Amino acid sequence: MSGYRSNLKDNHIFLFLVKYLLSLRVKTPLSWTFMKRNLEISYEHYDNTADMEVVDQVLISEAENATEKANAPYSNFKVGAAVRLRSGRTFHASNFESEVYPAGLCAERSLLFYIESNYANDPIEALAIASNPSERECYPCGQCRQVIVDVERRQQSPIRVIMSGAGSATVVDSAEKLLPFTFKL
Ligand SMILES: [Zn+2]
Repeated sequence: MSGYRSNLKDNHIFLFLVKYLLSLRVKTPLSWTFMKRNLEISYEHYDNTADMEVVDQVLISEAENATEKANAPYSNFKVGAAVRLRSGRTFHASNFESEVYPAGLCAERSLLFYIESNYANDPIEALAIASNPSERECYPCGQCRQVIVDVERRQQSPIRVIMSGAGSATVVDSAEKLLPFTFKL
């Protein structure tokens, strides 16, 4: 009986040691199976767009003007987008909402698909986004982020994305920063 008790006690000690060692394995930084990592994204922020380079200010103005051409009777949220190509040419587009709601399209994708169809050999250097109302900076939706990254990959050069609103702007030097862990086929 004492032998049985002794085995029971040994088993408990053994189990305790196993649990302890397992907990060490998870917590130790030397673990090969688990590691916490941090993702850091650098970007520029301008409290006042007047402090930006003139070429960027001009592109923001073009995006702001494009909001006037938006068709947004349902959301009443007008978005304008403008691109500057390597050649210096600029183009703009706005969002278009459809009576069949999912059939509508964001300003950014309308513009990018047009550029890719007509000026694919003239890489996009910068894309500015603006909205009306403009109470805050306007950021691209998830689907547009994917397409901006798609274009970046296709043209093999980064796109400066300028997200403006309420007189300020946030800028990333590559769309990849807006979409970490991007989907790839
Ligand atoms: Zn979008």
